[in-house]
Amino acid sequence: MDLRDFIRDIPDFPKPGVQFKDITPLLADPTAFQHSIDLLSIQFAGQKIDAIAAAEARGFLFAAPLALKLHLPLVPLRKPGKLPYRTYSLKYDLEYGQAELHMHVDGIKPGQRVLLVDDVLATGGTMQAGAKLIEQAGGTVFGCAFLVELSFLNGRAKLAGYDAFSVLTY
Ligand code: AMP
Repeated sequence: MDLRDFIRDIPDFPKPGVQFKDITPLLADPTAFQHSIDLLSIQFAGQKIDAIAAAEARGFLFAAPLALKLHLPLVPLRKPGKLPYRTYSLKYDLEYGQAELHMHVDGIKPGQRVLLVDDVLATGGTMQAGAKLIEQAGGTVFGCAFLVELSFLNGRAKLAGYDAFSVLTY
């Protein structure tokens, strides 16, 4: 099964010049979706990982089934105002303007090794912020995992020092 058949290219979304990788055809096909989670879990099964973390919203779609399959705790990284308990937070720059990610202060324990998951690696800004947040909480980034990597945007440069794994590379 070629998972590329389930990633739809949408030109000029959300703005002119951006080729958007739409994962909804994959989500709509249980066999393909299951295969994507299997490929991620094969990569990380048996590794010394204590928790999986992911930024909302599309990161959750892959992190949640992967966490269940690997039987690991799942830690949500969320936009401001969403998490009810005390949080660590981090502001980071986007192409236009700024964004902010929060994590509950008890999301991970100091010293824990965390695998970060997202659907798409584009510029790497979101994943870099997630990694810094894990480190702010005293955790260690085990690595970063993506379904899709847009290599021409060189997001890996922002993730230098972290292991990055992608199921599909464009
Ligand atoms: P990044 O630039 O790596 O920080 O990307 C931020 C988020 O935007 C990622 O988590 C992706 O979900 C999403 N994203 C960025 N570029 C694309 C794209 N071309 N297609 C689909 N999703 C994208």
